[in-house]
Order: sequence, then C-alpha cells, then structure tokens
Amino acid sequence: GTVVGILGGGQLGRMLVLAGTNLGYRFVTLDPTPDSPCGQVSEQIRAAYDDERAARELAGRCDVITYEFENVDAGVAELLEQESSVPQGSSLLYTTQHRLREKRSIEAAGVPVAPYREISSSADMVRAVAELGVPCVLKTAVGGYDGKGQVVIRQTEQAKDAYEQLAGGGAELVLEQFIRFRCEISVIVARSTNGEAKAFPPAENIHVNNILHTSIVPARVPEPVQEEARKLALAVAESLGAVGLLAVEMFVTEEGQLYVNELAPRPHNSGHYTMEGCATSQFEQHIRAICGLPLGNTKLLTPVVMVNVLGEHLEDVIRRFGQSDAEAERLNVVPKLHLYGKSEAKPGRKMGHINLLCQDTEQALEWIDQTNIWGNK
Ligand code: ATP
Ligand code: MG
Ligand code: MG
Repeated sequence: GTVVGILGGGQLGRMLVLAGTNLGYRFVTLDPTPDSPCGQVSEQIRAAYDDERAARELAGRCDVITYEFENVDAGVAELLEQESSVPQGSSLLYTTQHRLREKRSIEAAGVPVAPYREISSSADMVRAVAELGVPCVLKTAVGGYDGKGQVVIRQTEQAKDAYEQLAGGGAELVLEQFIRFRCEISVIVARSTNGEAKAFPPAENIHVNNILHTSIVPARVPEPVQEEARKLALAVAESLGAVGLLAVEMFVTEEGQLYVNELAPRPHNSGHYTMEGCATSQFEQHIRAICGLPLGNTKLLTPVVMVNVLGEHLEDVIRRFGQSDAEAERLNVVPKLHLYGKSEAKPGRKMGHINLLCQDTEQALEWIDQTNIWGNK
C-alpha cells in the first residue's frame, strides 16, 4: 500500500492521518516532539524538521510526502523532492512563505488584495504611509502568525515607531492599507495532481486576540458574494498551479467587495467545520488531491459553527461533554468534539475544536454563549 509522509506532527497532521487511514493509506510523521498529536496515530520519526538525515529517512520510507505547515526549510523541501515525491512542489511553499511574493501571485491571478507597499527603509515607510493613509498595517514579510509580527498604525506619527519595532534585525516588511471589512471569510480549495479543482463553501471567521475563535457556515454574506469568493479562490489556486489544499483568507467590505488577505498551502483551522459539515472533509480532500484520487463532493450537509478549544477552555469543555446537554437539545444543536491529544493545556494553545451541527447558526452561537466557557468577547 501507499505510505504518506507528513512533515510536522501537530493537529493538522493528525487529522490528515485519521482521514487518510480510512482511505487505506499508511502514514509516517517527522516531528521532534515525543508523543506528538500526529505521532499518536501514525509512525513517527523523532527529529527536527530541518534535520537532513531524518528527512532522507522519511523520503526513503514514503511514496508521497506532504507538510502541515508552510515554513518548511528550503533545503529539506528540495531534498524531499529529489528523493521521494512531493506533489505540492516547493514553489507553492516559496510563494506562500513570503507576503510580498504571495501578494504578487494573487494579483497575477487577477484577484484583488489590499493596496500595499514594500518597505525596506524608514524613508519608504514615510512615503508609503502618506500614500496609503491611516489606518494601515505594517507586517513582517516572513514568519508572522496569529497576528505576531504586525502593527496597526492609526496615526501618521506612529509610523516611525512601528517601523523600528518590526525592522529590527533587518526584517523585510509590507505596509497594507487597513480594510474596514464587514467580516472575514475563507475559502478552502483543493486542486489535484491531475488539475481537478473544487472549493468548499466559504466560512465566516471571527478572531479573538488574533486567534481564530469561531467559523460560521454558511457565512452571513449574500449568496453572490459567496459564489464570487469561491471563484476568486479557485482562480488563485489555478494560477499558482497549486496541488493539495490552499486556504484563501479574504476581507468582505460593506459593499460586498472582496480582498484576499493571505494564503496557506495546507489544511486550515477555518476548514475544520468540513469534518462533519461537508460531504468530504478538507483532510480527506487533501489526501485525495496529493494522491491523485478524484476529489470528493464539497457540498455542505448542514449549517455548522466551529469553535476552537484553547488551553484555557479545555477543563470546562471536558466537564461539559461528560454530562447530558439539555441546552443543546433545546437549541437543536449537535456538538461534535475533536481533541488533539496534546498533554499540556497552555493558555492560547489549540487543544481541540467543536463542530456544532445545527439548523440555524444563530442557535449554535447561542449554545456557545450559554456555556459560559468562552466568556465575553
Ligand atoms: P494567521 O494566524 O491567520 O496566519 P497572521 O499573523 O498571518 O494570521 P493576518 O491574517 O495577515 O496575520 O492578519 C491577522 C488579522 O489582522 C486578520 O485576520 C485581520 O483581522 C487583521 N488584518 C490583517 N491585515 C489587515 C488589513 N490590511 N486590514 C484590516 N485588517 C487586517
Ligand atoms: Mg498568516
Ligand atoms: Mg490570517
């Protein structure tokens, strides 16, 4: 049988393994953490991600290799491509590892991004703030996540401080116009080795402290805007020649205008709703895409709200799921729990998520409020 290798042993890898095992594949993970979420459900090579010997071993043991994070070391990516098969290729990684390259690739697909400027000096910064106006957002081109590596500039006078804060160490920077969005959505697209492509329904995403809190599906935006969002995401995937999953984050303005914010070439937290919400999960779809199977049906089976379980929520969530839930019955909500098998429940750490299957997403949101687990945002 086919053996699939995964670079990275976190929850995304774990859910890939769980879905792919049902399709008859076997898995080997490369991750330094003992008893990683993915290692609990697959074989694991315990070594650093950039350990070339370990990468060579992974390549030797696997027919197909994928990754669950985008900051894969370029040398390792090249080695894996030479010694095994990496259907996603390394150019997709190269593009999405860097915000400027990423934005240019989105523009090349004819898809709008927020107006932006490349910043490589404090003089650039002064000029760019004057051109784009305030508010605007300064971001490091490389390595940012969960809002780390970015600063919102609300007044022109803050520009210099923001620049000095992020430019230290010579980091490349991007300044973006601040989009006053009505909401944020994401579309996950899968494109297979034979060029077949399908988009999942858009999820409406609510962040708290820059970490995804809930995804609401269907997104509360007009149907034609949802259709346009899927079209744009497919256009980006096509233009990039992407293989596997591509998550496309977007802003939606009051007028229904869409701007792509950023891309991720992997399963995405905002796509976890697909596990019970869609006819095919994003994880199964990724395995299908990289293994050359026909893509699965992306139809939404039921309205669904996904809520993340962070370290500070875990105890309460486990207690809640240990009891019968009259509130869920009353609201016509079916909560489905997914825990990742992480032992240390640190605040802000993603420990699991709940998919709330429902008839009406407002009722699922009410269930979240009524539990008092997620507090007042
Ligand atoms: P992620 O964890 O999703 O990878 P990240 O650190 O890469 O996050 P972004 O997704 O670029 O950062 O930005 C984080 C959040 O900040 C966005 O989801 C959005 O709410 C806000 N934001 C970022 N850029 C802009 C912008 N140009 N206009 C308005 N809001 C923005
Ligand atoms: Mg990001
Ligand atoms: Mg983001």
